[in-house]
Amino acid sequence: MSNATLYVVATPIGNLEDMTARAIRVLSTTDYIAAEDTRHSGKLLRHFGIHTEMIAFHEHNERNQITRLIERLRDGKSIALISDAGTPLISDPGYLLVRAAHEANIPVVPIPGASALIAALSVSGVPSDHFNFEGFLPPRSVARRVALERLRGESRTSIFYEAPHRIVESLQDMLDIFGGEREATIARELTKQFETVRIGTLAELVAWIDRHEEQRLGEFVIVVRGAARAETVEDSAEADRVLHILLEALPVSQASELTARITGVPKNKLYRRALALKTPIER
Ligand code: SAM
Repeated sequence: MSNATLYVVATPIGNLEDMTARAIRVLSTTDYIAAEDTRHSGKLLRHFGIHTEMIAFHEHNERNQITRLIERLRDGKSIALISDAGTPLISDPGYLLVRAAHEANIPVVPIPGASALIAALSVSGVPSDHFNFEGFLPPRSVARRVALERLRGESRTSIFYEAPHRIVESLQDMLDIFGGEREATIARELTKQFETVRIGTLAELVAWIDRHEEQRLGEFVIVVRGAARAETVEDSAEADRVLHILLEALPVSQASELTARITGVPKNKLYRRALALKTPIER
């Protein structure tokens, strides 16, 4: 296939049956495959009987390799970019190469397939209409907690990748910062033998992973529901204002119910707040 094109090809995230027919065809017929780890990808390619020449392309040689790869593309060669697993550029190298190919007027063609991010979101049971992909959190606790603090009031679902040796610490930091009541999903070893999808509040998930040592192994995606609107200061103030007015005419339960419908703040929070507001009168 000599036809100056950069293909960005997704490969499986575990289960080899997720390799698409189109990925096999493209990888078999391009002139070169730029792979993050040629030994790792060699196994995948051998499995599918693909013998295309590989070129190492990883975060440490990315900048130098771009010049080489763009030269080959300019010579009319085709190149397929793959990563160790899933979709290249999703917490994986490739962005600069894709950018350089566009700038050199070389067609860039996606060959879509698996990505842990989308696989996890699709089974998370957490709202999926708007989401925020964070990739990996900083490895050190202080920086991680700062990153999480910034997301405390984020109303969209947030998705994180995490390594097994940090899964417990990261979940604990999420619990501390987002609160134990926040709903989340742990998606572990997706498409593989020990696939686990566990939903619960952060408090439940931390307790669960604490009890199950075997659940701390493998690859993880954490999906966290966004903040309820009440968690932003403005929304709390607005809910308080509505609640005050309604409490003048209605009992606690009805006032909380209506305020919840008007402001989107969870009813149980409003109920507790309403009780506190009413306390001096009702005691
Ligand atoms: N490009 C990949 C993608 O499209 O998902 C992600 C690459 S990133 C370097 C690797 C991380 O993705 C892992 O540490 C883990 O957080 C997540 N991941 C990859 N495969 C996974 C799987 N089978 N189950 C759960 N998480 C996975």
